[in-house]
Amino acid sequence: MTRLLTLFPVFALAIVTTACGQNASDMGFEKYNPTSTLKVPEHITLRAKYPFVDVHNHQWNMGSQDLDKLIKDMDQLNMQVMVNLSGDNGNSLERKVENVKAHYPKRFIVFANIDFDGVGREGWTEKAVAQLAEDVQHGANGLKIFKNLGFSVKDNKGNRVTVDDSRLDPIWDLCGKLGIPVLIHTADPKSFWDPVDEHNERWLEIITHQGRKRSDTDPAPWQTLIDEQHRMFKKHPNTHFIAAHFGWYANDLSTLGKMLDEMPNVYTEFGAVIAELGRQPIAARAFFTKYQDRILFGKDSWVPDEYKTYFRVLETADEYFPYHKKYHAFWAMYGMNLPDDILKKVYYKNALSIIPNIDKSMFPE
Ligand SMILES: [Zn+2]
Repeated sequence: MTRLLTLFPVFALAIVTTACGQNASDMGFEKYNPTSTLKVPEHITLRAKYPFVDVHNHQWNMGSQDLDKLIKDMDQLNMQVMVNLSGDNGNSLERKVENVKAHYPKRFIVFANIDFDGVGREGWTEKAVAQLAEDVQHGANGLKIFKNLGFSVKDNKGNRVTVDDSRLDPIWDLCGKLGIPVLIHTADPKSFWDPVDEHNERWLEIITHQGRKRSDTDPAPWQTLIDEQHRMFKKHPNTHFIAAHFGWYANDLSTLGKMLDEMPNVYTEFGAVIAELGRQPIAARAFFTKYQDRILFGKDSWVPDEYKTYFRVLETADEYFPYHKKYHAFWAMYGMNLPDDILKKVYYKNALSIIPNIDKSMFPE
């Protein structure tokens, strides 16, 4: 009895502290996810208002993939055309294009990739150019450059190949000549270069994704990489470039606007950065209004369920709704409420204007 009496108060205290949230200090940032009590109109948007072209998608095994399942998911989203940026080159690319042609010739566009192994070796540039020309002949309709250019690609002497390396110039010129766009991802969010502390907006992403942290020597300062990319854009004014992920300036739209003003050959897409737009709906709407001919729809990771956030930010005037990845955004989203004529440009018209061989009859006027 004495034993029970002494234990009881401790037990009761424990219950009270839990119910009152006194142990909140034990809860990590990742766990804290309060249910919003705000009551405002909701327009869950599972399907885009217009058929759209997703210019930033990756399907790694398209050569042997059963495309039926993919098409089913695309149809639900109203994705009329998927651009598979992971086309590879040579035989591997040919197999992907053949699978598409045999089953859904109008629903997929395949971009080629450069094999950067051996840059600087005698004849490397000529070989890369010839390979790309062949890939385009075999059905590639664009070129995708991954962030390894700038980050990890080394030449035959072991030096980092910069994004504006002149040994790559003939590749960009060929794309201009052939009329195919280059979608290029350079660097990563600037926060990856910043101290990993309580001030860093990408703190959670860095600590949960080993290997994303960068520094001024690993491999170079953020601004250096971005400047290399912009110099390369300016050096090839007759080539259309699509700067992936809003060129990592989605959180600084006035700078992105200046960049687009300076470089009329550059377009951009918002893959993986919709949360940046969803936290500044007024500035973002103004940006989309001013640069409505330069923005394309891109998503990057193929998770069909996540597209609804994109549609809702673009199409609705909804307020304070959730994003799907806390490590990208611990804040809520707001809709930009874009008018139909701008939505049409972003969803398909701009893609139709710079990516060849998409059947225009699949889209409204
Ligand atoms: Zn990507």
